[in-house]
Parts: sequence; structure tokens; C-alpha cells
Amino acid sequence: MMPYEEALSIVLSHCPTLHTEKVYLLDALGRVLAEDVISEEDRPSFDNSAMDGYAVHWEDIKDAPVELLVVGEVPAGAEETFELPKGCAVKIFTGAPIPKGATAVVPVEYTEAKDGKVLIKEAFKEGANIRRKGEELKAGEIVLQKGTILRHYEVGLLASLNKVQVEVSRRPRVAVLSTGDEIKDLGEPITKPSQIRTSNGYTLIAGISLAGGEPHYLGIVPDEPDRLKKALSQLEDYDVFITTGGVSAGDRDYIKTLVEEVGVKVHFHKVRIKPAKPILFGTYKEGKGLFFGIPGNPVSCAMAFDLIVKPALLKMQSAKDYTPKTLWAKLKRDFSRRDTERREFVRAILSLEGQGLVCDYSPKLQSHMLTSYVGANCYMVVREGVKELKGGELVEVVLF
Ligand code: AMP
Ligand code: MG
Repeated sequence: MMPYEEALSIVLSHCPTLHTEKVYLLDALGRVLAEDVISEEDRPSFDNSAMDGYAVHWEDIKDAPVELLVVGEVPAGAEETFELPKGCAVKIFTGAPIPKGATAVVPVEYTEAKDGKVLIKEAFKEGANIRRKGEELKAGEIVLQKGTILRHYEVGLLASLNKVQVEVSRRPRVAVLSTGDEIKDLGEPITKPSQIRTSNGYTLIAGISLAGGEPHYLGIVPDEPDRLKKALSQLEDYDVFITTGGVSAGDRDYIKTLVEEVGVKVHFHKVRIKPAKPILFGTYKEGKGLFFGIPGNPVSCAMAFDLIVKPALLKMQSAKDYTPKTLWAKLKRDFSRRDTERREFVRAILSLEGQGLVCDYSPKLQSHMLTSYVGANCYMVVREGVKELKGGELVEVVLF
């Protein structure tokens, strides 16, 4: 059985690169930028005030307290700026252009206005509270690089650069097919105690959307080879095809045999991880399509998505950063296990205690317990060969 790194690197090495397309800015959230975005002008584009207060000649206030004559007012958006005479101040507002000659802005909290004059109570340094033209960006500078995943910050930044449309990678079209005789969809009546309400299809659809993909839900098919094969024959319509359930070693686990029959080339089946050990990966359409057969336990499904499928979706979109992020934290309580063959990913909560990061794992360790994700923000990694971890020791944590 292969280790996690090898499985991930096989998947990543088979990711095709998708075309790009232009979309309106508000449709770009969660997508991967496919162009370097350059600033067309300096930012700020003019010297302006960082505070509400008084613009002054710095030399006039360096021995404050001092009283200055107020010669005018400059609101934000003011068109003209005038020359500020020596020994005078001008009332100014945040974002307003700095009058010619002014070399500092004294915030209003440090002043007292009276009879057309203002008392400056404290000295400020030359240049204080002035935002200089070009201090944030120079015209021609690259603001966002190709491969950036667009979050709400980048959407706002692109708006400020007047990008009405942006070039992004096409969304991968991802099919999601759930399997299992006992699985019932939302709203379907449960008629026997042995039936189970689905979660996997919905976990995946939501996860695919967040990773910039375009999910296509194909519903639930029972463990019947003919019906499964018919559903699987839709492969060609998608960039990625994901099934859940039926990929283990049981008599009614047909996925492996059937995907080979419909032309999937299997690259691995079973990885040395816990949960999600039976995961299967293959390619189709001469390597242009990716197939993932994920085991049915809800935690296996979510974890296989986070650690194997999501990096692939991001890489297909040419994201610069597509692998899960790891850091180290102090373990709160002892952890032990019997079987040390596989690398285990345990749902856990990373938090700040005092000066350091601490990690506490969910008491719900088993792979059918989706509630182990409630409040969780990371996986605690228990490496192959490790039987126990002691409270207080540093543990590896993968963020999600
Ligand atoms: P399997 O991988 O088909 O052997 O399924 C493993 C376990 O996951 C079984 O307990 C199934 O009932 C459960 N399971 C399979 N598919 C789903 C699903 N879509 N939603 C929730 N649980 C599922
Ligand atoms: Mg099953």
C-alpha cells in the first residue's frame, strides 16, 4: 500500500491544465486568476490626508503648543488645492488632497479651534498623517499574480483597479455519484431502520464549489452493476468524476471492476491512510479526466476530498498554492492507538492558549462520525509507526 505523499503526487502529476475564460468580477470569487494584474496608476494617485485634522507646515508646529490662523477647509473629493501660507493651518478631512506646501497633518484630537484660529497642542513629525502618492503601488507594478485564488480581499482590490472582468481558469466540471442500497437522498422516506440518510454527495458538492469547481450531482445509485455501469458511462461529460461508497473489498463493492470496464485506467487503489484507505484513483479520456472512487464513510469522504481531491481541483485551475498547509502545535491530551500501519488524520481544534498554539483532538475518532467536524479546524496527523502521542508534545497539524 502506498503512503499519502506518493498517492498525492500521482494525482497531482495527472492533473490536466484547464483553459481560461473572462468573467465578471463578482463571478470570480473562489476562482483562480489566470492573468497578472497590473496597476495602471500610482496608488494613492495624489498626496492625501490620513486623518481628520489640520494640514500645517511642519516647521510651524515643531515647538508646539502653538496657535495658527485657519485659512480654509479641504473636504474629501475637493478639486483644487491651494498654497498653504506659512504660519497658517487648513482644516482637512480624511482622503482630502494635501494643500501645496503642507508637510504634516495634525489629527483633530490634538487641536482646539477657537475664533478662526487653532491651537496645536503637540508636535508631529514631518510627513505625519500624509498618505503619499504611489506609496502603496507604482504604475506598472504587478498587484496580483497569475495563480492567485481570489478571496473577498482580492475581489475588492480588483474592483479598486477598475477590473470589470477578469481572466480566470475555467471551472472543472465535477460529477458526484453516490452509491449504496441503503442510502436515501434528502426528502426521500426512510422505510427501514437499516437505511441511511446521505451526506457525502452534499459534502462533496459544497466542497467542490468552495474549491472553484462546478459540481454536478448525479444522485444515488444502488449497488447493482448494471445501474452503476450506466451511471458511470457518463464519465466523458466531466473533467472529474467522483463516486462514494462501494470501493472497499466487500462482495457488493463493484466500483473498481466497473470503472475499468468503462475505460478508466486505475493508478492506485488503497492508500496507507486512516480513514479513506480504499480510495481509488484513475484517469480517462486519454488522461484528461480524473476519477476518484471514495469510500462511503462520511469522514473518509470529507477527508479524502480535503487531502487528495481538492489539491487536484486547484492544480487543474493552475493555482500557485494547492497543497494543504501544515504547522506544529502542542498536543493537549495523550493520544494512543492500536494499529500503527497507516497515517491517521484526526479531526482536531487548533487554538491559541497563552502564547502558543495548542491542538485538541475530537473524542469522536471513528470514520462514520461526521459530527467530529463540528468546531474542528484541522487534522492532527499521526504518522505511520506512531503508537502514542503525549500531551505537551508537538504534533503536526493540517489546516482546513
Ligand atoms: P461503503 O464504502 O459503501 O462500504 O460504505 C461505508 C459506510 O458509509 C457504510 O456505513 C455506508 O452506509 C456509509 N455511506 C455510504 N454512502 C454514504 C453516503 N452517501 N452518505 C452517508 N453515509 C454513506
Ligand atoms: Mg456500500
